[in-house]
Amino acid sequence: SASGPAVPGATPMMAQYIEIKAANPDCLLFYRMGDFYELFFEDAEVASRALGIVLTKRGKHAGADIPMCGVPIDRADDYLNRLIALGHRVAVCEQTEDPADAKKRGPKSVVRREVVRLVTPGTITEDRLLDPGRANLLLAIGRRKVAEDAFAYGLAALDISTGRFSLSEVTGADLSGAVARHDPREIVLSEAIHADPALARLWKDVSAPVTPLAQAELEPASAERRIKAQFGVSTLEGFGSFSRAEVAAAGAALLYIERTQIGARPPLSPPAREASGATLSIDAATRANLELTRTLSGERAGSLLDAIDRTVSASGARLLAEHLAGPLMKLKAIARRQEAVAFLFEDHALRRSLRDALARAPDLARALSRLGLGRGGPRDLAAIRDGLDAAALIAARLSEVQALPDGLGRLGKHLAGADTDLVETLRAALADELPLNRRDGNFVRASYHPEIDEARLLGQDSRKVIAALQARYADETGCRTLRIKHNNVLGYYIEVPQAVGESCLKGLMRETFVHRQTMVDAMRFTSVELGELETKISGASDRTLALEGAVFEELATSVLAQTAAIAQVAEALAGLDVAGSHAELAVEQSWARPQVDDSLAFAIEGGRHPVVEAALRRTGEPFIANDCDLSGEGRGRIRLITGPNMGGKSTFLRQNALIAVLAQMGAFVPAARAHIGLVDRLFSRVGAADDLARGQSTFMVEMVETAAILNQASRRSLVILDEIGRGTATFDGLSIAWACLEHLHEVNSCRALFATHFHELTALSQRLARLDNATLRVAEHRGEVVFLHEVVPGVAERSYGLQVARLAGLPAGVIVRAGAILKGLEKAERDRPGRPRIDDLPLFASLAPPPPPEPPAPAEDDALGAMLDAIDPDAMTPREALEALYGLKRER
Ligand code: ADP
Repeated sequence: SASGPAVPGATPMMAQYIEIKAANPDCLLFYRMGDFYELFFEDAEVASRALGIVLTKRGKHAGADIPMCGVPIDRADDYLNRLIALGHRVAVCEQTEDPADAKKRGPKSVVRREVVRLVTPGTITEDRLLDPGRANLLLAIGRRKVAEDAFAYGLAALDISTGRFSLSEVTGADLSGAVARHDPREIVLSEAIHADPALARLWKDVSAPVTPLAQAELEPASAERRIKAQFGVSTLEGFGSFSRAEVAAAGAALLYIERTQIGARPPLSPPAREASGATLSIDAATRANLELTRTLSGERAGSLLDAIDRTVSASGARLLAEHLAGPLMKLKAIARRQEAVAFLFEDHALRRSLRDALARAPDLARALSRLGLGRGGPRDLAAIRDGLDAAALIAARLSEVQALPDGLGRLGKHLAGADTDLVETLRAALADELPLNRRDGNFVRASYHPEIDEARLLGQDSRKVIAALQARYADETGCRTLRIKHNNVLGYYIEVPQAVGESCLKGLMRETFVHRQTMVDAMRFTSVELGELETKISGASDRTLALEGAVFEELATSVLAQTAAIAQVAEALAGLDVAGSHAELAVEQSWARPQVDDSLAFAIEGGRHPVVEAALRRTGEPFIANDCDLSGEGRGRIRLITGPNMGGKSTFLRQNALIAVLAQMGAFVPAARAHIGLVDRLFSRVGAADDLARGQSTFMVEMVETAAILNQASRRSLVILDEIGRGTATFDGLSIAWACLEHLHEVNSCRALFATHFHELTALSQRLARLDNATLRVAEHRGEVVFLHEVVPGVAERSYGLQVARLAGLPAGVIVRAGAILKGLEKAERDRPGRPRIDDLPLFASLAPPPPPEPPAPAEDDALGAMLDAIDPDAMTPREALEALYGLKRER
C-alpha cells in the first residue's frame, strides 16, 4: 500500500512500519516479527533506555542506520508492564495473515500487519499488569459552561478491569480534589480543557499521563450515541439524568476505550451517578498532607490506608481504598456501614468464618472483565466458579444469623444473586489442573464432553500405535536404540545411531525409511506409515483443541449472560471484606464506634494517630492518647496550639482529621469515644514544606492553599492549620497567621485546630470568644526536656528550641553560643519599651507595619553570665565541657 511514493527508498516492510507508526504517533509501536516484537527508530531508543535492553541496528533508512531493539513474545507482558508503569502507551501490532498467503501475492509482498490493541496505563486487564489491591481507573473529563468564564466539570471514572463506571459533576474549584480522590492511572479530556490556562498547573502536577482528544470527536451527539451503543439502550433516561458535562465525560471515556481496545467492548456496569456533595470534599493538598492513601513520598506503606487495611481479598482492598478516598456525607449510609462493622465486631465467630471464606474467593470482577473482553482463559472461568461458590457459602452462613442488621442483610441477598446451575456446570466442565491459555488445551474435564473424550482417546491410541511401530522398526533393523521422536520442525521421525543409519540406507530398510537429516552421531528418517500416523495424531489434537475451544466459548457465554448478577456478587464480597476489615481492626486496636450526626460537635476522647502509633509500637514506646473537643458554640471551637517542636503538635492535629475521615467512611475510630457532627469539607495545610520540585516559592504555595481554605471553609468544615506563616519573615508571618486566625473565627466560623510557634497569638484568646489555647506538656529534667505528648489547656511557657537543638546533636559550642545570644535578645526586648507587644496591636483594625527588628546583638555586659546560665554541667560529656570552656574563653 504505502510502499510506493509515500516513503521513497524504504523497503516494503519499513514502509509498512512507517505507515503504521504514523497512525499511532503517541505510542511505542511493538511490531511483530516472528517470535519478537521489534521497535525501531526513536521508539527503539526510548524502549532500550527504559527497559535496559540492547539497542542494535537493522538496515538503513534515508541513508542512516535504523536503530532497533526487540522484546521476545513470551516475555512481552513483563516489558509492557515496565513501560506502562513509566507512563508509556504501547501499540501492539500483530501479523494478521498467514505469511504463506503473503507469499502468494508476490515474492516481495509483506505480511499484513495491524494494530490489534493499544496498551495504556488506564486500560489494562491482565493480572500480570495490574496491581491487585488498587483500582485501575481511566478518568475522562468533560465540562459545561455555567456562567461567563465558569464551568462545571463532569467526571467519568471507569475501570475496565472490573467494569466499574461512575459519573459525577463538580465545580471548577473542586476539580483538583476530585481528580486526586479518584487517583486515576490515566486521564483523557478535550483539547479545550487541556489547553485552559486556569487548569495548566493541575495537568502538570497530576501523576497520571493526560491525553487530550480532538474536539471534533467529542460532539454531544456522538457521546450520546457511544453511551447508547455501549449499554444497548435507545435512550439515556433509564440511567437517571446526566448533566451535559457528565455525558461529555462518559463519551470521551468510551471513545478512548474504543480506540484502545479496537473492536473489543468491555462489559461495564451501567454508569452509577454520584450526586454532588455525596462525599466529604477533601482537596488534593489535604489528601497529600494527611497521607490518606500514600505518603508524601508516594508509597502506600506509612499511609492511613496501609495502617487500617485488614482486608483479605484484592477486591476488598480496592473498595477500602475507594471508601477512604470518598468518605460519606449521608448519615443513613454511614450508619448502614457502621452497623455492619459493629455486628462483625461483636460476633467473633461469624467474623472469622466470613474472613476465611473471603480469603479463598478469587477476584471475580477482574476475571469477569477479561472474559468479557475475549481475553480470558480457563483460570478465569475457574475464578468465577470458586468466587460464586464462596459467595454461596457466605450467603448460607449469613442466612443462619439472627437479627442481621440491614447493611449485612442486603449484602447477603446480593451474594445469593447468581444462578447456582452455572457453578455446577463450571465444576463439571473444568479439569482440576488448568493451563493459563485456552490455546494450551486440556482444561475440559474427562467425561464432560463425549466427543472430546473420543478425540483424546484417538490421540492416546495413536501414541500407543507409535510405540508399537517403534518396537517393530527396532526389531526389523535389529537396532535396540531406535527411537521415534517428535520436534516442531520435522514432526515425528525415526532416529538411529549413525552407523545403523548408514546400513539402513543400503539394506532392507531402504524401501521403508526415507532419509531426513544427518546429525553428528545419528540419522533421522521418516516412513509412509509414520507420516499417516502423524496426520491422524495431529488431526486428533487439532480436533480436541477445536472442541475444547467451543466448550470454552459456551462456558464463557453462559458466564457473561449473568454479568450483572456476578458483578453484584463481586461487589457484595468486597463490601463484606471491608466491613470485616474494619471490625477486625477495631477489635485488634480497641477502636470505638463514633457517634456521627448532623450536629456541629467534635468531641474525641482518648484519640490516637493510627500510623504514628503503629510506628511507635515497633519501638516499644507507648502512644499518649489525647482528647480534643471543638464542639459547641462557646470557647474551644478553634483551638490554638503552641508547644515545642517535637512535642506532638502535628500528630495531634492530623489524628483528629483522620478520625473525621474514618468516622465518615463508616469505620470505627482510634479513640475511646467520639462524637462528630458531619464535616462537609476537610482542610489541612502545613506551612513551608519545601516544595522545590514544583518550582513555586514555598511561601507562595502556602498562601495560595491558605486562601483556598479561607474562601471555602463553611461552618461545617474542619480545618487543620499547622505552622501557617512560617515561610516568611517573622513579622510578615505573624501578621498573616494572626489575620487568618481572625478570619477563621469571624467569617468561616468552622471547627479548627491551629498550631503555631508565634506565641504572641495566644493572647488573642482574650478577645476571640471561641478561641482557646492548648499546649503540649513538657517536663524538664536536669536541663533536658522530656516530651510528654500530652495536650493540656494553656500556653507553652518556652519553646525549648535550644534543648531540642541539643537533642538533635548540635555541637555543644554552638548551643552555648546560641544560649548567650538568646539571653541577650530577651534582655534587649525587655529593655526597649518601643517594640510592639501583642496587647498593643489592633485586633480588628488593619495592622500598621511594625518597626524592623533589631539585629541579634547580645547585650555585652551580661554575655558571660548568660552563657554560664545555659550550661548544665551534669548533662555534659567531658568533651562538651571542654568545648564550652573554650567558648567562654573566646567570649572574654
Ligand atoms: P511537632 O509537630 O510538635 O514538632 P510531631 O507531631 O511531629 O511534633 O511529633 C514528633 C514525634 O513525637 C513523633 O514523630 C512521635 O514519635 C512523637 N509523638 C507525637 N505525638 C505523640 C503521642 N501522642 N504519643 C507518643 N508519641 C508521640
